[in-house]
Amino acid sequence: MNKPSAIVIGAGIVGLATARALSLKGYQVTVIERSEKAVGASIRNFGMVWPIGQPDGKLYNRAVRSREIWKEIADSIGLWYHEAGSLHVANETDEWQVLQELHDRFSANGRNTKLLSAAQIGRQFSGVNTPSLLGGLYSDTELIVDPREAITAIPSYLAEYLDISFLWQTQVNRVEAGQVYMGNRIMQADLICICSGADFETLYPEQFTAAGITRCKLQMLRYTTGNKDWRIGTSVCGGLSLIHYHSFQVAPSLPGLKKRYEAEMAEYLQWGIHVMVSQNNSGELTVGDSHEYGHTFDPFDRAHINQLITGYLERFMVTKDWQLVQSWNGIYPKMKNGETEVILNPEPGVYILNGLGGAGMTLSFGLAEEFAAGI
Ligand SMILES: Cc1cc2nc3c(=O)[nH]c(=O)nc-3n(C[C@H](O)[C@H](O)[C@H](O)COP(=O)(O)OP(=O)(O)OC[C@H]3O[C@@H](n4cnc5c(N)ncnc54)[C@H](O)[C@@H]3O)c2cc1C
Repeated sequence: MNKPSAIVIGAGIVGLATARALSLKGYQVTVIERSEKAVGASIRNFGMVWPIGQPDGKLYNRAVRSREIWKEIADSIGLWYHEAGSLHVANETDEWQVLQELHDRFSANGRNTKLLSAAQIGRQFSGVNTPSLLGGLYSDTELIVDPREAITAIPSYLAEYLDISFLWQTQVNRVEAGQVYMGNRIMQADLICICSGADFETLYPEQFTAAGITRCKLQMLRYTTGNKDWRIGTSVCGGLSLIHYHSFQVAPSLPGLKKRYEAEMAEYLQWGIHVMVSQNNSGELTVGDSHEYGHTFDPFDRAHINQLITGYLERFMVTKDWQLVQSWNGIYPKMKNGETEVILNPEPGVYILNGLGGAGMTLSFGLAEEFAAGI
């Protein structure tokens, strides 16, 4: 018997995860991507697969499941990843108080975190600035992938292992139940999934508008050091990250910390800056980021934002041997109502999966499996 057919539009991480899940559900899948390779948010990020940022329950479990799938794919094709964990550092007493509260809460809920003293951090993780360090919260659950490698390797994996076809450099102009239009060409399928990332205008624009989705622009930096074998050993985040992730809202002292940042670091909050560092297989360090929300952004990066990011970075990392080699920005879709994703069904057999915000690398594989199980 013929398999049912599915078309997935977009070869970013959401499209790739959806293609994988549908194929495993028994669909014959074709992915259609307008570019030669996906060059949207999925190639521009830190590569942080980041369960610690997700609240307990459905989202944390989804992140942990995604992490398993990342490892399964990477192990099959020799894709690099590092089970680097994460380290949130405290340089002020109120940050240290929040980290201690998070450790109590997380460990009570079965998460594997531990508090490290400044001396322990100094011994285990070179590169962290210790003189003013009070301590840190280490979690062993986080994983780093290299998005620039992954976004081209995963399509090869899907083609080879799951017989998924790819149409590159092909723009879909219109979709209706059962068929997609690519210029003069029409392709039919039983199921169509639209994973168009930050493009809300081409397909079903009125659905996107009604769903309340917006965009977020982030600025990023990349550094090398003189020694390509030198490793920081984990992914490191400064205090400002504590007010960024929802999972940290369980700390009773967090509102007080936020108040202090509002008073003392208003410019950082204005640009949505918090600072994290991840390191890839070549020893390069990815540093970011800022958050500007809106429909249309200046295409130009603001040097001032990069200066704020590097100024904050120097508080908690020793960067004297680091050389800036690249800067760029990325744009992701974000729900305005606080939801972590949107799944729409504008016509029979047509679905839109979008709005994963800053957590697409962390949540897409798990979300796609849940989606496929539900159709
Ligand atoms: C700077 C930055 C850092 C981030 N860091 C992290 C992180 O460390 N960890 C994490 O979990 N998340 C992170 N994120 C978020 C994550 O990158 C996104 O959630 C995720 O990449 C979104 O994936 P996507 O597939 O929806 O979008 P995209 O990757 O943008 O892919 C959408 C694709 O659809 C294609 N497309 C659109 N319309 C059409 C059409 N009509 N026809 C054909 N093709 C079409 C586009 O060409 C594009 O390739 C970060 C994001 C940014 C920008």
